[in-house]
Amino acid sequence: MALIVQKFGGTSVADADRIREVADHVRRCRQRDDQIVLVVSAMGKETDELLRLAAEVSPTMPGREVDMLITAGERKATALVCMALHDIGVPADSFTGSQAGFLTDTNHRNAKILDINPQRVRTAVDEGRVPVVAGSQGVSTGRDVTFLGRGGSDTTAVALAKALGADLCELYTDVSGVFTTDPRVVMSARKMSSISFDELLEMTATGCPKPAMRSVEVAGRYGVPLHIRSAFTWEPGTIVTQEDPTMEQAIVSAITPDDSEAKVTVSGVPDEPGIAARLFRALADAGVNVDMIVQNTSADGVTDISFTVPNEQVEVATAASQALGADIGALGVITDASIGRVSVIGAGMKSNPGVAATMFETLADAGINIEMISTSPIRISCVIAEDDLERAVVLLHSAYELSNSTH
Ligand code: ASP
Ligand code: MG
Repeated sequence: MALIVQKFGGTSVADADRIREVADHVRRCRQRDDQIVLVVSAMGKETDELLRLAAEVSPTMPGREVDMLITAGERKATALVCMALHDIGVPADSFTGSQAGFLTDTNHRNAKILDINPQRVRTAVDEGRVPVVAGSQGVSTGRDVTFLGRGGSDTTAVALAKALGADLCELYTDVSGVFTTDPRVVMSARKMSSISFDELLEMTATGCPKPAMRSVEVAGRYGVPLHIRSAFTWEPGTIVTQEDPTMEQAIVSAITPDDSEAKVTVSGVPDEPGIAARLFRALADAGVNVDMIVQNTSADGVTDISFTVPNEQVEVATAASQALGADIGALGVITDASIGRVSVIGAGMKSNPGVAATMFETLADAGINIEMISTSPIRISCVIAEDDLERAVVLLHSAYELSNSTH
């Protein structure tokens, strides 16, 4: 008998039929003798719809009220899923995040989990019932309802699995697992049967949209085994686990495309101590989340500093850079929103030479210019023109033979 936390995303519970299918799946799992805890997202595009409504009513959208509003989406889904379970003879209880014991900080719209006291969830399981927990929410230290942010239900599920000491956390979604690259870009992209936490974390940090990066961080930190799988075909998906040191790791596992960032270049800044410190302090104070950073070697005592930021933050980043640039005597600030980033990810690159050379040769042969490069022990990313992004992904996917590898 295994204790399994199963999380269902918005599309998986989008309408009455889907909700009944999910309930039926839970019934089948219980026949196998598994104990099931459910976490559900808001139905379909409901979170987007509630946020749109809030923006229509209020230009300021106070955080406390926004959270009260959007957490209603998940709450509604839990009640409906419970009703469907009751009707097929499965005893079930819905719980809000607060009832399920999620204590968070007071940072509305993006609250962090501080502690979980899943007493009521545990009792329901012990009594042979199925607890159905509203995803992405909790109650703050100030006793207000909080929302954990977009994609927060994945984090709810993983954190709950850890708190309950569950054997497995299954994230059900509308794709059948984690692919070697975006299947919309490369038709021969292959579903991986397994991947390591570290690799999936790098993938989600560089453009892979699911699961939410935060949930992978939490799963990796606490060693919660994940299974990412389809709520439509119910076929086995991708298992995410700790790297197995006894196994040879695939040299390259995946290629991720990302067009969500823009590049800002501050040119002609004095090459002296403290300049980068002041620039990035000013950006941090403006709330800008900087990703890649490159500083060129200086000529004549001046240099260029380039960095990437999320597209949504490009105006703020540019304004902050211009203000500081004027102060420090920089020549100017140039912004380029039409950049793309392509990343090559694989745990095996730690111990195998030539991965970077292959990447750069592949891009060079295609006449694609590299504007910035950054690496981690298991990732190489290149910033290129956004127009070249899809071509780069297709070529790299085939250069590393990802369509037909057996990993
Ligand atoms: N419904 C919320 C969202 O779309 C939370 C979640 O599904 O994870 O972001
Ligand atoms: Mg872009």
